[in-house]
Amino acid sequence: MNPDMPTSLDVWAAEASTLSWNPGVLIDGRLVPSQSSQTFDLVSPRDGAVLSAVSAGSSADVDAAVTSARAAFEDGRWAGVAPIERGAVLIRFADVVASRARELALRISLEMGKPAHDALAVELRAIVQCLRWYGQLADKLGDEAPVSSPSSLGLVTREPAGVVGAVVPWNFPLTMTGWKIGPALMAGNSVILKPAEQTSISALLLGELALEAGLPDGVLNVVPGLGSVVGEALGRHPDVDVISFTGSVGVGRRFLGYSAESNGKRVWPELGGKSASVVLADADAGAAGRTTAWGSFYNQGEMCSASSRMVVMRDVLDEAVDAALEQSRTMQPGDPLDDASQMGAIVSEVQLARMQGMVERALKDGATLAAGSIERFDIGSGRGSYLAPIVLTDVRPDMEIAQVEVFGPVLSVIAVASESEAIEVANGTPFGLAAGLWTKDLSAAHRVSRRLRAGTVWVNCYEEGNMSMPFGGSGASGFGRDKSAHAVDKYTDLKSTWIEL
Ligand code: NAD
Repeated sequence: MNPDMPTSLDVWAAEASTLSWNPGVLIDGRLVPSQSSQTFDLVSPRDGAVLSAVSAGSSADVDAAVTSARAAFEDGRWAGVAPIERGAVLIRFADVVASRARELALRISLEMGKPAHDALAVELRAIVQCLRWYGQLADKLGDEAPVSSPSSLGLVTREPAGVVGAVVPWNFPLTMTGWKIGPALMAGNSVILKPAEQTSISALLLGELALEAGLPDGVLNVVPGLGSVVGEALGRHPDVDVISFTGSVGVGRRFLGYSAESNGKRVWPELGGKSASVVLADADAGAAGRTTAWGSFYNQGEMCSASSRMVVMRDVLDEAVDAALEQSRTMQPGDPLDDASQMGAIVSEVQLARMQGMVERALKDGATLAAGSIERFDIGSGRGSYLAPIVLTDVRPDMEIAQVEVFGPVLSVIAVASESEAIEVANGTPFGLAAGLWTKDLSAAHRVSRRLRAGTVWVNCYEEGNMSMPFGGSGASGFGRDKSAHAVDKYTDLKSTWIEL
């Protein structure tokens, strides 16, 4: 390497030094101060530095955003535009986001700790593809005329629901936002986005880019703030028609309660998981172990669909575990601004402490620490929130570590004796988000994948997919579906019109 050439770290750091962080709330097409005048600190888990103040939105801000969204919906400035024109704006929005991809990736990386190069390659690619996909779909969803007799004509048309609240987490902040606003805007709704506390400033920038792309004022409002204030105010608002929520089980269930106690708005919860990667005896155990570990550690393990349990038949246990351990060695944490880093920082000190506590209890419960450490990982700076990937063996299905979502880089290995035991263990949590299955036997692939309780089953792979495939779960993982044409159903009402001729 030429010592005079700037490293990726130098380049990202230089770009970071030019960023300005603009707090506020984006309402009716303008970035304005919150009516609360209060702020909280945005602390980067990369090094503990305070990046910015974030506006702590209030219920008055939510009222203003809902009023703006309702007015925009009712006067038809967006809902009344031809679908192909709405699609064109979404495609332009995708282009504008793509043109600012490096900046957005860098902001996310500093906000929540994932490697900037990953944010660029995965997160930004995902939101750009998503906005384009729904932009292209806008004029392809025809209505139905199921009844056509000499005396009658029956029409089934799809109408936008109205005002949508989109409440999202910090782990894939732009991907999750795209999955919600893409279909909601495509269908003609007005949206109020409530970003997670940690990723508010990048969300505000996204809202400004939508305006730049030609989305009319008031159609996409962004109100950052505390979940217990802004999220709850949205959830309880009598003039919000739909809440699309991605986040934890506890908060998702709160939204169902807010709805019941307010206007009965429809709520789409997309929640956590404890996904199993099932390795049968005939599988390529090396590939299974490597990919399962990757699926458990990628994005610092902060993934709803993380393959956090490897349920493996004893015949191939050693080979699969060796491969998982090897993978853990290649994914040591590093500075999120270094393109060599496969893992970045854990989102916050609170989350780091929670993960350490769970691993500590797992060891007390009888698990064996086969890789990693319970101690904070030092990337050399002595600062920041880092944890090396952890592999736990000798995990039993009834342990807390095998039942509760860690949302961190911790893989639990559970050995089983048979296919039926593997299925029982895989299905033996309250969750039903995703599963992996490893086998070379075509019949087993079909037979077992049908029996796995999961919204998505990946056979001989993990985390694959594209915009055409819906994503979501069952049980404690909620019941909403993001992506694909099916997601449009969440934001539309069917109208039946019967015409006597
Ligand atoms: P979280 O539930 O704490 O927060 C999610 C959002 O809800 C944030 O915007 C937050 O401000 C808001 N919120 C928090 N408390 C609230 C309250 N009392 N009332 C209203 N709103 C409130 O989740 P998180 O920590 O941001 O994200 C991690 C969780 O998200 C994990 O459980 C993960 O599995 C889940 N997740 C699920 C999917 C999926 O597609 N199923 C995808 C990504 C993440």
